[in-house]
Amino acid sequence: MKNKNLLNKSENSKIDWEKIQFEMKNKFGKDIYESWLKKIDFSEEFNDYILLSVSTRFLRDWITSRYLDQILQLVKTFKQEINRIEILIVENSSITNPHLDKNNIEKNSFKNNVSFIKDFVFQYNRIDPNKNFDNFVLGSSNKIAFEASKKVAENGTHYNPLYIYGGVGMGKTHLLNSIGLKLKDTNKVMFISAERFMYQFVKSIKSNDMVKFKEYFRNADVFLIDDVQFMNGKEAMQEEFFHTFNALIDKGSQVIISADRPPNKLNKIQERIKSRFSGGLVIDIQQPDYDLRYKIIKIKTEELKKYYSNNLNISDEIQKFISSEVKNSIRELVGALNRIVSFSRIYNKTPNLSETKVVLKDLLNLSENKVTIDTIQSLVCKFFKISKNEMLSSRRSRYLVRPRQTAIYLTKLLTSKSLPEIGREFSNRDHTTVIHSIKTIENLKKNDPELSSNIDNLKNQILYNNSNEI
Ligand code: ADP
Ligand code: MG
Repeated sequence: MKNKNLLNKSENSKIDWEKIQFEMKNKFGKDIYESWLKKIDFSEEFNDYILLSVSTRFLRDWITSRYLDQILQLVKTFKQEINRIEILIVENSSITNPHLDKNNIEKNSFKNNVSFIKDFVFQYNRIDPNKNFDNFVLGSSNKIAFEASKKVAENGTHYNPLYIYGGVGMGKTHLLNSIGLKLKDTNKVMFISAERFMYQFVKSIKSNDMVKFKEYFRNADVFLIDDVQFMNGKEAMQEEFFHTFNALIDKGSQVIISADRPPNKLNKIQERIKSRFSGGLVIDIQQPDYDLRYKIIKIKTEELKKYYSNNLNISDEIQKFISSEVKNSIRELVGALNRIVSFSRIYNKTPNLSETKVVLKDLLNLSENKVTIDTIQSLVCKFFKISKNEMLSSRRSRYLVRPRQTAIYLTKLLTSKSLPEIGREFSNRDHTTVIHSIKTIENLKKNDPELSSNIDNLKNQILYNNSNEI
């Protein structure tokens, strides 16, 4: 990832939620931020995921379905290792008190409940009704995985275990979730990520609850375990998992596993486990081809149109552009579309192709998008007819301040530099000055159409060396 240290310098640094909130406000716009995202509290940080909290289930579902993928992308720019976000529901989680007391969360969400297992079912055995077989779009890369999943959901132990693997954002969790959803009314379904399994395992050892833990998992009729590559190197957990797995298979329960690689490529996982994984049906989901990507974009666009009562227009040109350029994963693809939708909602217009390129810049590999601070500074100076020395000086004359703020704003918009990095490039200014500049220009843009159009022009010059558009 390009912008590893967007705001933080050290790899091990803790997440600064205030900064993320600031970024969320930038990214989603004030309306969305104030209505929804501001209400999220930060709860806890783990090695590769974070725990957030909100006050109601509705809020959680709304945020999860609309913004979570993008919030995750943002968090990743601060700390690359984070690959998942979980949102707890903590009643009385504060809109009024944004810095929720950590102990309070613990108390509400873990300790006060009848038993941790109960709580754990409540919090983590969540099946998302919005990820089902009906809205899983089929293409040549995922058809076999889909059919096998459906078979398992319809006929039970056809293939046991069913092992589905593929890269990030290919639809593995969606399929596992669909199986769980289909079977949960008639079976005891357990759907858990390997990481969460580990977490519960450690927790139950600490609290002397191993008996409950074992019972709980071995009781399942259908056991879905997501991202088993996470067990890599975790010996004690593998041991426990192996016994759970055997017990489940012995009693005829269905086991479904997902991973980012085939069983034989799992590193540091016991041979006997790998061999059991290979004992059922092993299937992969490959990268989506153009046809599938376009199909997904078309379907999602239609859904969104309906949702916004036809008040949304994303041209076929843009749909094709996204489908041909965002290739890495379906998650990114859907995320790209959501961004375009946010753009058109916030600015109340349909983005054209160059705006689309700007909005999706970090997802695209377009060579012309390599923007340097130097280019930005030079072009902004040229536009305002000042020298670079003047721009970088400490002088605060009005005719210098505005160009400087503009250049800072554009640097934030068009590069992946962190606020402190930007500050440094502008003669060691403090990051609060950088924030102030960005805010000033954002506000001015709203009320001053001429300035807004000048900035758009500059933006295009910088991006495309093209001085006559937008
Ligand atoms: P993985 O678990 O492989 O990393 P996910 O299942 O989380 O990927 O998929 C990422 C996102 O893309 C989810 O929002 C999911 O609903 C969506 N998605 C993936 N594949 C499809 C598909 N074939 N049809 C519709 N949505 C999909
Ligand atoms: Mg997944």
